[in-house]
Amino acid sequence: MTTIYRAEWLLPITAPPVKNGAVAVDGDRIVAVGSLPEVLATCPGATMVDFDQAVLMPGFVNVHSHLEYTSFRGMFDDEQFGDWIISLVDVKASLTSDEYLSSARLGALEALSSGVTTIADTTYTGETLTATAEAGLRGVAYLEVFGIDDKHLDETLADLDERLAKAQAMTTPLIEIGIAPHAPYTVSSRLFQTLAVLARERRMKVASHVAESKEELIYIRSGSGKFAHDYREKMGWERMLIQPYGVSPIKYLQQWGVFDENFLAVHCVHAGIDDIRILKAKRAAVAHCPKSNAKTGCGIAPLPDLLRQGVRVGFGTDSPAASNIMDMFDEMRTALFLHRGVERDVSVLNAPQCIRIATLGGAEALGLADRVGSLEPGKQADLIAVDVSSSHFVPIDDPYSALVYGANQDDVLFTCVAGEPLYQDGGFPRLDAQTVRAESRRVRAKLQARVGEGRVRVGSAESGWWHTPAATDQRET
Ligand SMILES: [Zn+2]
Repeated sequence: MTTIYRAEWLLPITAPPVKNGAVAVDGDRIVAVGSLPEVLATCPGATMVDFDQAVLMPGFVNVHSHLEYTSFRGMFDDEQFGDWIISLVDVKASLTSDEYLSSARLGALEALSSGVTTIADTTYTGETLTATAEAGLRGVAYLEVFGIDDKHLDETLADLDERLAKAQAMTTPLIEIGIAPHAPYTVSSRLFQTLAVLARERRMKVASHVAESKEELIYIRSGSGKFAHDYREKMGWERMLIQPYGVSPIKYLQQWGVFDENFLAVHCVHAGIDDIRILKAKRAAVAHCPKSNAKTGCGIAPLPDLLRQGVRVGFGTDSPAASNIMDMFDEMRTALFLHRGVERDVSVLNAPQCIRIATLGGAEALGLADRVGSLEPGKQADLIAVDVSSSHFVPIDDPYSALVYGANQDDVLFTCVAGEPLYQDGGFPRLDAQTVRAESRRVRAKLQARVGEGRVRVGSAESGWWHTPAATDQRET
């Protein structure tokens, strides 16, 4: 059965905006896109859903998040990045698998109500998979890997294999499994290379936090700074020798041959023009997280240069522990204002570019542009409707301008993935929002109790003990 969705405005992304626009959906696919009379002529007898004063557009592609940390939002708002990450290490280990699942469910709920249809999520616990599958979201779940001490390499790989097998068994046709070596300061060069080979052999995508903070830059370049001291001590790595590599994090990783078209470099705040050329030459993509980077005091990634060099870029909201909310409108607006302000030039980024990066750009960065990111016949029916009837939008000449400068996540009316409505009329057909919110409040109370206990060092084993849910961690001592 065919359904026609109609709204005052339609943004196909790959074509100009359409007034009185419509999208016809049959099953999980888009079958027609255009003005209402055109679409009606193609699909006579279809059921009609009219959103009236709204914008129909492809769902957002959020290229970097950590759903499992949603209950951490707002906990360390004013800590410098190095301290912030150490604070997270302290509280992370206190939660059980079920509590991480509650936290991830809250994130999935927010994703749907804010118009995100595809999410590239980094997860250690794997609970993200359950939450995204239940919610009906599309995406890539990157399983996170840590390991600085090569003595534990085999153990780390065996653990990953086990988690991959479990993840493959849990996944849905809409969710792909990838690998996420956490960052150059938490993954040894040998492990990084091994994971790159493994990912290529198994045709898996890879995401990693790269060139995020000045602490990382100083650590890789000079072997010193907060990551060489406080952080290593916190992780139990202080006994291990480190050496200054004398190069930027991106040049450092390039030596190990990890970049390719399936690599998503998350952040890239500290990326010079030579680094950007490396990413371009290796066809790696970038997740730009402007709010997270600004809020944690890390800086501003060189988005205009990345775009000029033709690097694939999408927007990521990052972990709610860093940026609090999963609002892609806020992310677009922040990006536009930051880059215009810093460059002192309005021509560096405009509203249509922002919407493109948040949809098709993200899909390109994840290698999913043949399926999602724009409204075109044959593509998957991942679409949203945004209400523009409120006074803060009126009058509208340009829907791009209305959305980027005026909208926020509460203006989303409708979210549909693969033809299935997952958020409409303020409700979630698949999910029990009240229970999810109540559970996550309980999780938060536990986290706050942990903070109240003061900073406690919780272990020193390798390969991600610090993310491992408390009740199931065999290695925690
Ligand atoms: Zn992240």
